[in-house]
Amino acid sequence: MKKTIDLRSDTVTRPCAAMREVMKNAPVGDDVMGDDPSVNQLESMVAEKLGTEAALFCSSGTQSNLLGLMTHCQRGDEYIVGQEGHTYKFEGGGAAVLGSIQPQPLDFKADATFDLDKVKEVIKPDDSHYARTRLLCLENTHLGKIVPLDYFPKVKEFVDTHGLRLHLDGARLFNASEKLGIEIKEITQYCDSISVCLSKGLGAPVGSLLCGSKEQIKEARRWRKVLGGGMRQAGILAAAGIYALEHNIPKLSVDHEHAELLGKKLSEINELSVELETLHTNMVFFTTNQNMNEELVLYLKEKDILILGGSSIRLATHLDITEEDIGIFIDAVKNFIREN
Ligand SMILES: *Cc1c(COP(=O)(O)O)cnc(C)c1O
Repeated sequence: MKKTIDLRSDTVTRPCAAMREVMKNAPVGDDVMGDDPSVNQLESMVAEKLGTEAALFCSSGTQSNLLGLMTHCQRGDEYIVGQEGHTYKFEGGGAAVLGSIQPQPLDFKADATFDLDKVKEVIKPDDSHYARTRLLCLENTHLGKIVPLDYFPKVKEFVDTHGLRLHLDGARLFNASEKLGIEIKEITQYCDSISVCLSKGLGAPVGSLLCGSKEQIKEARRWRKVLGGGMRQAGILAAAGIYALEHNIPKLSVDHEHAELLGKKLSEINELSVELETLHTNMVFFTTNQNMNEELVLYLKEKDILILGGSSIRLATHLDITEEDIGIFIDAVKNFIREN
């Protein structure tokens, strides 16, 4: 059977044979009762890696982000978030719907940071007219961009000065630390809570973790149950996560090399514009100069190559993409240009 080359997202990876094997053999117990050894092992492993007191295994990044927000903010509180922030734009408005938390969206700067003077302007005074501003939420990586490392001490000082907490949506935080060649703790030490995904570039089928203080995670565990996220013999899934952390972190570098190669090859085609300055990790954004993005998507689909359309096309590299696939993709794009 011909391989489908799927560049839509790094969530499309399928568990490899070795990962399936550890899932099959995973020791399990009832995690709602705290009895699942594999879940417990995964939670300690991730807390240790991120340098937090505790961690909580969640069904998805949407759930771990929501639990982060719900444990920092009460009903009528507010959190400051990017206009293009995942928790605000792509999580169904969960903070408002389920947490009674008001979002205060603010534009990210080009480098995925906030202008802290602008943040300061939207922090509400202590007055009954306003929601209570409690939390600032960052995202790293954001659209594949790495938040500059030297921003974190500044933002930490800022939130401390203003009595806010800092949550990091780190769905792809391992991509950032791997690319920077640093321990992930060097980023997370500035954050009160962090959400990390196992189901993106790390290649696990399911799962994210919320990391934070013991007290916060205890509270999050309670809300996770309320949200229907209390999973019983979840060790089968946790085992995949442990495998991913033990084997797949260094492989993120290969994804980054593949993305760079994609960016380079696409930028050699005159009929395309590629966003090379923001190509930091495993995502490549480009557009056809003749406004033919949708036509390109359909053309490639015929050739078993899947990409996501839109005003800018996003390609994500991942474990199931090889250098050969990139060659096939580039040739197909060139053929499209030739035929159109
Ligand atoms: C994927 C992603 C999440 C979580 O998504 P789930 O599909 O719910 O796991 C959160 N934030 C960002 C930036 C993401 O890319």
